[in-house]
Amino acid sequence: MCAENGGASRGQVTGVFLDGIRFASPASGLEAFCTCFCEHCARAAEALGLDFERMQRDVTALYQHLVSGAPLAPPEVAGSPIGVLGQLMRWPGVCDWLWFRQRTITDFVEELARAVHGEGKQLGGYLFSPCLAPLVGQDYVKLAPFIDLFAPMLYRNVNERNCIAPINTELHVLASWEDPPRGPVGILALAGLPAEPHAGLDELLTRGVSPEAVRLETARARALIGPAATLAPILWWDDPLAAQTVACARQGGADGVQVFRLISGAKARWSDIDRVGSGVK
Ligand SMILES: [Zn+2]
Repeated sequence: MCAENGGASRGQVTGVFLDGIRFASPASGLEAFCTCFCEHCARAAEALGLDFERMQRDVTALYQHLVSGAPLAPPEVAGSPIGVLGQLMRWPGVCDWLWFRQRTITDFVEELARAVHGEGKQLGGYLFSPCLAPLVGQDYVKLAPFIDLFAPMLYRNVNERNCIAPINTELHVLASWEDPPRGPVGILALAGLPAEPHAGLDELLTRGVSPEAVRLETARARALIGPAATLAPILWWDDPLAAQTVACARQGGADGVQVFRLISGAKARWSDIDRVGSGVK
């Protein structure tokens, strides 16, 4: 946005891309994930008619459940969406909390869309993969009227433990919360992704998930947003099966793809700047 001329009206700008429009994901850590219960959220939740105390109580129970290493859903139930729903309904405040996170993000994006569309510009958004989006407050269906270009982050093979956003690292973190850790087949089932021949959980980091998972997640995104919006998933640059992954995204209904490229050393340089408190993010 440009303050100098009053917002998104600068002539050469086609649109605005949003990133980070979400709450904390599992890879940010269990404590960060089980938020937000600040006074602003309390007021916003109550204004929406939610029982904030019940939300806080049930999310605390979920947190304690997960800290103890207990599975979110027992492996026998993980492959059954109805079974998982039944499990979740034991904590109605958790259902409220997940809905509240989605509603907050949707309202925020709607407000931004009004400003951007009001200037005749387009709105794009980087979103978590559909199998993870409900955990971070992103509802593709509710966002569809406001976002013109959806860019799901379908990073399938990022070999970095606790990396925020990639499908494989977020699932690795979710599986690691369990004691003993859930195996790769179980965590892929929970995400609705096909079983793969991983020898152990850490192969989720070294091999990632398959290009077929990218096809499935693209198809899910397309089904959720409908035919009107442009769908251009962003893919991880360092993918030994890049051609296959792009083909899978196309087969899943993508109009095009974007590529996230990490330039060698860039991360360290930018984190140094962050550490000295320049405010650069
Ligand atoms: Zn808050």
